[in-house]
Amino acid sequence: MFMKLEGGHKLFFEKTKDFLLDLFFPKFCVGCGCEGEFVCSDCSLFLSEASFICPSCEKSSYLGERHLKCRKRGFPEGLVNLWDYEGVARKGIHQAKYDYYIAEILNDLMDRFFVRLGDNKSRISSFLNFLYQEDTVITFVSAYKVRASVKGFNQSEVIARNLGEKTKKEVVDLLKKTKKNVSQTNLNREERKENVKGVFKVKEGVDTPSRVVLVDDVWTSGATMRECCRVLKKSGVKEVWGFTLARKV
Ligand SMILES: [Zn+2]
Ligand SMILES: [Zn+2]
Repeated sequence: MFMKLEGGHKLFFEKTKDFLLDLFFPKFCVGCGCEGEFVCSDCSLFLSEASFICPSCEKSSYLGERHLKCRKRGFPEGLVNLWDYEGVARKGIHQAKYDYYIAEILNDLMDRFFVRLGDNKSRISSFLNFLYQEDTVITFVSAYKVRASVKGFNQSEVIARNLGEKTKKEVVDLLKKTKKNVSQTNLNREERKENVKGVFKVKEGVDTPSRVVLVDDVWTSGATMRECCRVLKKSGVKEVWGFTLARKV
């Protein structure tokens, strides 16, 4: 018989459920399969740091800043991609889509990056300067319908919330996907650009911040992020930095 669970009961129920799931679905490394962590310390050595690129021309940019000569209206001012999308990073991001532990896997991948950086934050100093400005908020690429991840989460949102938690910055749900387009997976560069055109909108009734960190899981051609950026800027956002967990090499 079902009863409406309220307050404390509900919390107890949720906690028990999580406990049982943890018990029956232990954590295994996405790289080697050993039990304990999603990215074990051995496998983390094989994660390859992405070099930063200009979000406009995609050529090398040491701090991820857009080149002065690449100034184009509607394009992001900077871009940070943590890992090359290969090996453990690729496996983890792919597996997270179908795993009960979606958030934990994605968080582990991000944590490994910051652990490796240690106190040497100079590589991401430009990004951090931007992020820590008072009026910067974090947002994420929205999904049309919350995709079929086991927990019904949008990967980009999970990554954005983790970044927000780490940096104590506000995460705001600014974008809305208004159309269901075909998956970008099998499209070439030009087709990708066409495929995302007019697909995103800024939600009605939200205050437009002046600076935004836009989060997605993977940078492939940049088409999705550029389109989101264009829409954000059209609605009054002055500057945008992109942030993704990985970049396709
Ligand atoms: Zn491993
Ligand atoms: Zn450039």
